[in-house]
Amino acid sequence: MSFAELGLNDVLLSTLARLGYETATPVQAQAIPAVLAGRDLMAAAQTGTGKTAGFALPLLQRISAESVTVNANSVLILVLVPTRELAEQVHGSFREYGENLPVSSYAAYGGVSINPQMMRLRRGVDVLVATPGRLLDLYRQNAIKFSQVQTLVLDEADRMLDLGFANELNAVFAALHKRRQTLLFSATFSDEIRAMAGKLLNNPLSIDISPRNTTVKRIKQWVVPVDKKRKTELFLHLLKTNRWGQVLVFVKTRKGVEALVQTLQAKKINADSIHGDKPQASRLQALERFKANEVQILVATDVAARGLDIDDLPQVVNFDLPIVAEDYIHRIGRTGRAGASGEAISLVCADEVNLLSAIETLIKQTLDRAEEPDFEPDHRVPMTNGAGQILKKPKKPKAPKSSRGPSKGVPNNWVGFDAPTGKPRKAVVRKGNAKGR
Ligand code: AMP
Repeated sequence: MSFAELGLNDVLLSTLARLGYETATPVQAQAIPAVLAGRDLMAAAQTGTGKTAGFALPLLQRISAESVTVNANSVLILVLVPTRELAEQVHGSFREYGENLPVSSYAAYGGVSINPQMMRLRRGVDVLVATPGRLLDLYRQNAIKFSQVQTLVLDEADRMLDLGFANELNAVFAALHKRRQTLLFSATFSDEIRAMAGKLLNNPLSIDISPRNTTVKRIKQWVVPVDKKRKTELFLHLLKTNRWGQVLVFVKTRKGVEALVQTLQAKKINADSIHGDKPQASRLQALERFKANEVQILVATDVAARGLDIDDLPQVVNFDLPIVAEDYIHRIGRTGRAGASGEAISLVCADEVNLLSAIETLIKQTLDRAEEPDFEPDHRVPMTNGAGQILKKPKKPKAPKSSRGPSKGVPNNWVGFDAPTGKPRKAVVRKGNAKGR
């Protein structure tokens, strides 16, 4: 469907033409007319489906047409997002789509000084994109008032709950007046989210673009079984033999991220990281450099998993499987975006079989396995059946004694790889708690 048919004005139509958006995506086709008409929305859409434009375009059109003057320390449209990166990205979309409209916008998030944010808010802002914690701080310090809020957008609502923002969200909801439009977007819909929607939304239009909890079909996904201690070697091997270009790699903990980045950098591979311990400026810089193709490998914890829009990313690698099965969908949603195809490869060790089984149950699919020659694990990964059952451990084919041992499987033609020492390698210890992300 064309954007003109959806009721967007000429200014937005020419911006979209310049951006090369020819037709509306399914979520846009349903969301845009509903948002223009002032309806509440509860939208389940896969990552990369164009949901940001689905709410940003009609909201920009509405506020520019209404020409309400925003008061000091006030805001007309409040967009809540789970992470700082997503705040920057959604704000960037508002700016891009609204570049020829008289609409002001701003992003406020934690991890950076609050003072410049307080200064900027004095003038009031039409669209504020914020993370819940920082928004509440600003509110409690009287830097922001909610009396003019017309529309509240909750983007990646499930992620906000996963990250423990329930209390902040409830405090914000309590401070907002009831007469407003509310748009709730979430890639996955848990019972908790549905309960929240029940409290917040008024006769919402439900948009469910895809079957729930499925992964994008264009993404080719498979698992490479491997022993835990050999994941780094395997990653380097796959990178080299498959001649991968840019890869986004997900690792469970911040320590794990840093360890992998250090190994890659030591081998002169251009790598950078994003995780919760890094200052905001360097996280954004790493992302920008990755987007600009100045960094080949971006290693991240799940902080980076949702909402990041990286064009034409061909490979996502799960170095570790996510602890929360839904995160798998978000992680691999970084590839195969906007019609492109992609690959998602998970390096899975025996310890992770329960996580694998939970993912397969969620996506209702048994992931293909492809053992890599010379990396067949000593600790076999039990078979799973995609229905939450872990089947009997397969027997490992017996290898002749002489070929066993710690140096097994390190091909001697690898450039830059450590020569086998004959000593057992130390297993990398990764702590599995969510706080370490
Ligand atoms: P989102 O799901 O909002 O993160 O958007 C995913 C990507 O699709 C972004 O790079 C958008 O710029 C792009 N996009 C959104 N809508 C369209 C459209 N109608 N035509 C082409 N690209 C689009």
